[in-house]
Amino acid sequence: MEYGETQEHRMIRDTVRAIADDYDWEYWRECIRQKEFPEEYWQDLADDGWLGVTIPEEYGGVGMGMLEMTMVIEELSRGGGQGGIIFVLTPVFGGITIERHGSPEQKEQFLPKIASGDMRFSMGLTEAGAGTNTLNIDTMAERDGDEFVINGQKMWISGVENSDYMLLISRSSPFDPENPTHGVTLFLVEDPANRDGIDLTPLDVEVPWFETQYQVDISGLRVHEDDILGAEDGGLYLLWDTLNTERIAGAASAIGGGLRAVDLAVDYANERSVFGSPIGSHQAIQHPIAQSYAELLAAREITYKACWKWDNGEDAGLESNVANLLSSQAATKAADRAIQTHGGNGFTGDYEVYDIWQTSRLLQTVPVTNEMVKNYIGEHELGMPRSY
Ligand SMILES: Cc1cc2nc3c(=O)[nH]c(=O)nc-3n(C[C@H](O)[C@H](O)[C@H](O)COP(=O)(O)OP(=O)(O)OC[C@H]3O[C@@H](n4cnc5c(N)ncnc54)[C@H](O)[C@@H]3O)c2cc1C
Repeated sequence: MEYGETQEHRMIRDTVRAIADDYDWEYWRECIRQKEFPEEYWQDLADDGWLGVTIPEEYGGVGMGMLEMTMVIEELSRGGGQGGIIFVLTPVFGGITIERHGSPEQKEQFLPKIASGDMRFSMGLTEAGAGTNTLNIDTMAERDGDEFVINGQKMWISGVENSDYMLLISRSSPFDPENPTHGVTLFLVEDPANRDGIDLTPLDVEVPWFETQYQVDISGLRVHEDDILGAEDGGLYLLWDTLNTERIAGAASAIGGGLRAVDLAVDYANERSVFGSPIGSHQAIQHPIAQSYAELLAAREITYKACWKWDNGEDAGLESNVANLLSSQAATKAADRAIQTHGGNGFTGDYEVYDIWQTSRLLQTVPVTNEMVKNYIGEHELGMPRSY
């Protein structure tokens, strides 16, 4: 196994970080306040090739691997705001899923536009009635000639208002306990915010993001069979495959956010003086920051191992899940320590640390809950009985 950092990796970090540094905390706060997509930032990433980091060169990307995408997300996240997590919907859910499972026509249609920043995605999986039990979704697509008619409801769906396409996960055959993984299909749904058959209700979600989350009511939505990604009834395997990359991307975002919390805590601890010396000279302040830094570096190693396995065609399920678990915990703890270091300032909007805490804490629940990660480890790795 070889995933040490090369000179090219250092170049990636420096270049990406330079973009992130052009967009300060005030820029992100304004996007969040106005609920506006960060267009200039997105275009800068596209112009420098980073939105197409894993997209093959023949489709306008730079053809790198998951490890490089992880470094990009980590550095953008360390640069502040929603700089890293923003990658999940489009380059991961749109880009990687289509790269791996799209038909040649779909690759031609979507990948160059993702790389150039001209196409954005949302992803509709979660349902109120099913929750984390994906097999239990009951949004249903019924065939009508060469089209499907879809009815159902999705919950918590992020960024529909900014998306040109939604990757919609629907049943296409009823659940069969004899063949539980059969009967789910992935649809590419154009213009989901303005389309007949889709009704959006914004949800009151308290995270410092520019995106809105929606309840998505789907009634009589018609989608052509050419807009199926992968095989009819065979979507679940594609979804599992993509969810590992979502976990890696979530981990990278958490690590970057956690490291930013450490950076900010260190700066503040070095500057702020209360009893005649910088507060960072007190071990009660210094040691927890050092502890968090150590935990983040350890979480980063397992994340890179997940990338290495993914890039080498190996099963990265365990490492992707562990990366998600450890990085979300380490980042939340780092943000908590950064808040404590900032005293009362830690709770104000002028300092980023409270926002970092909210996003890090969210990553213990989204995209996958830490309980489900532990279920996976307990059952698939340690061989204990399934509890549910
Ligand atoms: C800000 C935000 C953005 C989101 N964006 C999207 C999006 O774009 N697209 C999308 O599809 N979804 C999205 N989601 C949904 C998100 O993925 C789910 O909320 C998450 O997966 C948890 O599902 P749930 O809320 O239904 O929890 P539930 O399934 O109701 O679980 C509730 C609690 O019970 C625990 N639990 C349940 N079953 C077990 C078990 N067997 N063993 C142990 N513990 C268990 C869970 O771990 C959790 O802690 C978003 C959510 C939020 C908050």
